[in-house]
Amino acid sequence: MPAAPQFAISDLVRELRAIVGPDGVLASESELLAYECDGYTLQRNPPTAVVLPRTTEQVVAVVNLCRRENLPIIPRGAGTSLSGGVLAVDGGVMITLTRMNRLLHLDVRNRRVLVEAGCVNAWVTREASPFGLCYAPDPSSQPACTIGGNIATNSGGPHTLKHGVTTNHVLGFEIVLPDGQVHWLGATPDGCEDVEGYDLRGAAIGCEGMFGIVTRALLRLTPAAVAHKTFLGVFDTVDEASQTVSDIIAAGIVPGALEMMDQLITRALEEAYHFGFPLDAGALLIIELDGLPDGIAAQSTVIEAICHRNGAREVRVAKDDAERAALWKCRKRAFGAIGRLSPNYVTQDGVVPRSQLPVIMRFIRETSERCGLRIPNVFHAGDGNIHPLILYDERDPGQVQRALAAGHDILDKCIELGGSVTGEHGIGVEKIDFMAKQFSTDDLDAMRTLRRVFDPEQRCNPHKMFPGSKRCADFAPRKQAAA
Ligand SMILES: Cc1cc2nc3c(=O)[nH]c(=O)nc-3n(C[C@H](O)[C@H](O)[C@H](O)COP(=O)(O)OP(=O)(O)OC[C@H]3O[C@@H](n4cnc5c(N)ncnc54)[C@H](O)[C@@H]3O)c2cc1C
Repeated sequence: MPAAPQFAISDLVRELRAIVGPDGVLASESELLAYECDGYTLQRNPPTAVVLPRTTEQVVAVVNLCRRENLPIIPRGAGTSLSGGVLAVDGGVMITLTRMNRLLHLDVRNRRVLVEAGCVNAWVTREASPFGLCYAPDPSSQPACTIGGNIATNSGGPHTLKHGVTTNHVLGFEIVLPDGQVHWLGATPDGCEDVEGYDLRGAAIGCEGMFGIVTRALLRLTPAAVAHKTFLGVFDTVDEASQTVSDIIAAGIVPGALEMMDQLITRALEEAYHFGFPLDAGALLIIELDGLPDGIAAQSTVIEAICHRNGAREVRVAKDDAERAALWKCRKRAFGAIGRLSPNYVTQDGVVPRSQLPVIMRFIRETSERCGLRIPNVFHAGDGNIHPLILYDERDPGQVQRALAAGHDILDKCIELGGSVTGEHGIGVEKIDFMAKQFSTDDLDAMRTLRRVFDPEQRCNPHKMFPGSKRCADFAPRKQAAA
């Protein structure tokens, strides 16, 4: 583990400025405030300095400086992580890729695109769409999050149910290892896509910034769907909507997207965006079919029948592209609407087998009543990937404790139901305690061994993921919640 810095911060800043220029280093208290946490705000700690490189060479020079001084390195994209993945637990140099954001080469013929790691996810589809192509992984944070962050967390999104998550669409990438070496993993931009040997590309996707800094990536582009049909299923209860999700998949239909929203989040969304959602519905399902028109027509009949069999009071169809876009805008901005309900919230990210959705949704309701905190839900139901949003007010320490306790109870239940403690947001600092519950000691040792292949000194994004990691001093541990 990294030792405390041995030399003055002013010397560090001077040397970093010599590498990236005077405007590429942030080190004052006020500048570092924006970097003391990501979307998981329950733990905070500023890095020693933030550096904003513009080239891979600059990243290498910064990494070599950190190696010389035995400083932690924290890779960062847009900071939209919801699990504390970019928390500088022990200070260190935060390497932020947001200035390396260019789309370098769009290869329409081969359906590939080369981007810098700080390129924003949504920009890729924006540039590819005039050619009938898209970049399929579409996290709801896509107007902000970066390709580097997506690779580090193996991001999913509403449409990855059918089209696959990040690892299915990243052909290869450049990574700067913590010892300053630069490697390409997987297909190179000028090579063929079949790479022999171990799939180190696959091994490094989802490493949560603990293997090195991703600087460029070669992405697969997918033909955009010829047609869409988007349904809004209106149900009186969450149980009916959950059963519908289970039945659609059991019928052999994999929609492009299958998302659920409960009453609390629907009301907040309606107040914020005025879509026309029914405010008295217990739950809404967004079901989107995509592909060729003939296939969509056949599947539509089955979907509508399943919805009605499970008690849907209404199944609306988006009447045109504008209405479809408005519906997705609401869904993808759902977390933003939470500000209308509460000053703070923590987003949980668990997975259960789809057949267990009614059980986990009931459990969340009971947990909400037990903890005295409201917990709206908006999530990737087709994947069984729940996102309960636990609302609290950080000015009330009791609420903070109860929010933490509620999150723990829900994740414990996910494991008990045969699921997992993360579907897409990663472990970060938030879910370290669950690793030993979900994995055996042998599993964890194997993961640590793999990490040491890339980062023998464990200086890259330290104190994440593994049990025994250091915590921030202000972290409120679970056992206090029970006291
Ligand atoms: C409103 C909202 C909606 C969201 N919806 C989704 C969703 O639908 N699906 C989903 O999967 N996630 C979602 N997220 C979570 C988050 O957006 C994703 O995890 C995203 O991939 C993070 O990208 P980022 O650029 O913000 O990375 P950061 O938050 O900056 O970093 C995330 C992790 O990646 C590492 N990292 C970042 N850049 C690099 C790099 N260049 N090299 C190596 N490591 C790096 C960091 O060290 C950290 O561990 C959502 C978040 C918000 C706030």
